[in-house]
Amino acid sequence: MPVKSATRKTPRKPLGLLERLAAGPVICAEGYLFEFERRGYLQAGAYVPEVVLEHPQLVEGLHRDFVRAGSDVVEAFTYYAHRAKLKIVGREKDLAKINRAALAIAKKVARATGTLLAGDLCNTSIYATDDAQSHKQARRIFDEQIGWAVDAGVDFIVGETYSFGAEALLALEAIKRAGKPAVITLSVPREGRMREGWTAAETCRRLQDRGADVVGMNCARGPATTLPLLREIRAAVTCHVAALPVPYRTTPAEPTFQSLTDPHGTSGPDGRPFPTALDPFLCNRYEIGEFGKEAFALGARYLGVCCGAGPHHVRSLAEALGRRPAASQYSPDMSKHILFGSDQRLRQDYLEYARRNYRAPAASG
Ligand SMILES: [Zn+2]
Repeated sequence: MPVKSATRKTPRKPLGLLERLAAGPVICAEGYLFEFERRGYLQAGAYVPEVVLEHPQLVEGLHRDFVRAGSDVVEAFTYYAHRAKLKIVGREKDLAKINRAALAIAKKVARATGTLLAGDLCNTSIYATDDAQSHKQARRIFDEQIGWAVDAGVDFIVGETYSFGAEALLALEAIKRAGKPAVITLSVPREGRMREGWTAAETCRRLQDRGADVVGMNCARGPATTLPLLREIRAAVTCHVAALPVPYRTTPAEPTFQSLTDPHGTSGPDGRPFPTALDPFLCNRYEIGEFGKEAFALGARYLGVCCGAGPHHVRSLAEALGRRPAASQYSPDMSKHILFGSDQRLRQDYLEYARRNYRAPAASG
C-alpha cells in the first residue's frame, strides 16, 4: 500500500479519550444508519446494520471518510446490532458475527489513522420502566455487546440515544463493570424530558455521579433545540459534556426530527417527514459549523453530528473548531468558479454576465 505521509517516528502510545478531552475538543462522527440507508445498504424501519456483514468494505470506506473529514473517533457500527433488534429482522443467529465484524472494521481504521476506537451501545428498544424482565434483558444486551467491544480492545464505549434515563444508567453500570471510559448521550424526547419525567440535566447529573466520564445529548434534536438543554446540562455537571445533534432544522414547536412536519405537505409513506423525507430540513455545513462554535463556547468538548450527517458536515465542524483535516484540501474556493469567481484566468465576460443576472435578491430591484 503506498504511504505518502511524512517520515515515521517511533510509535508512541496514542492519547486516550480523557487525555484528548483535557487538551481540547474531540470530534466523533455518527450517522452511519442514515447514510447507508440513503445509499441502499440497509432498511429504514428496522435500521439494523446488516451492511457490516454484506459490504464491509463500504463501512470501512465511510469510517475513513469521516476520519478524513476530522473525526477523532471511529465508532464501531454496532448500533442496533443487539439481540432485540436482530430478532426483529430474523438474524439473531448473526449476533456475535455482526458485532465482531463491525468492531474489526472500526479497529482497522482507528489503528491505521491514529484515532480512537469506540464500542457502541444504544437503546435496547425493549426497555420499560415498570417491567423488571425488560431490565434483565437490557443488562444482557449491554453485557453481550460490551464483551465483544472489550475483546476488540476498544479505547472507550459509547452508550447512546437513551430516552429513558434509567436505561442509560443500566448501560453505564455495564460499561463501568468492564472498566472502560463511558460516554453516555441522551435523546431527549419532544416533551423536553426523559420518558420517566426526569430532566436532561438531572439525568446527566445522575450519570456523572455513577461514574460516567462524558454525558450529554445525541440524535433526535437538531442544533437549535439541542443547545438550550445543553446549557442546562453544562451547568449541572462537572464532567465533560457531549453534543451530537442531528443535522436538521428543528424548532421549539417541533423540537425533534420525529416531530417535524413539512409545510409543503410532502411526507414519507406514513405521513411524516421522519425518517426518509427529511431532506428539505437538512442543515447546511455552515449551520453545523456555527453549532460547533456555540457548543464549544458553552463548554461542550465531545462534539459530532448524528443521523443525516455526511462528511461535509463533519469537516465543517472540524474547521469551526480551528482544525484543518485532510479533507480541507478540497474545502470550497469560489474564486475559481466560472460565474462567481475572481481568478484572472476566468472569462471576464462570464463574470460580468453573472454580475448582471445573479445579483442577490436583497440587492436587486
Ligand atoms: Zn442519530
